[in-house]
Amino acid sequence: GVQRMMVMLESDSRNESFARVCVASFMTRMNPTVAETDDVKTAVSEAVTNSIVHGYPYEKGLIRLVCAIEKDTLTVQIRDWGRGIENVKKAMEPMYSQSVRGTERSGMGFCFMEAFMDDLKVSSSVGNGTLVQMKK
Ligand code: ATP
Ligand code: MG
Repeated sequence: GVQRMMVMLESDSRNESFARVCVASFMTRMNPTVAETDDVKTAVSEAVTNSIVHGYPYEKGLIRLVCAIEKDTLTVQIRDWGRGIENVKKAMEPMYSQSVRGTERSGMGFCFMEAFMDDLKVSSSVGNGTLVQMKK
């Protein structure tokens, strides 16, 4: 059957590493390689950082991390209820970056998620937040 876990995180930068460790710990039951675990950790970091930095730039909010393992596939969902993304397709292009607080970023987060995971889906709407779904 399916095995699941869910964690609610506050959008504090310290929870970026916490989220990464949570997922890594959960996926040990799949007996992943070190490389697979590292890939997932990188992707989770990028998504959670995005929620913290872009989703909730001015005030703290909640980030929901959901993981499921079915057969040999790990599904990870990272959801925030923050600002949302106006144009998801554009936001996912390499080197596209738009930070409301004007901090310089490289615009590679979504590219890393795409490269390190086997499947990436992003849905978002302005004012309602963002959902990132990834599979490994
Ligand atoms: P980097 O990840 O390299 O530090 P970045 O965060 O700008 O830079 P991406 O992670 O690829 O690059 O994200 C691209 C853009 O999509 C962001 O600049 C931001 O405008 C938007 N974005 C991404 N995630 C969210 C989110 N959770 N909420 C609102 N906007 C987002
Ligand atoms: Mg990013």
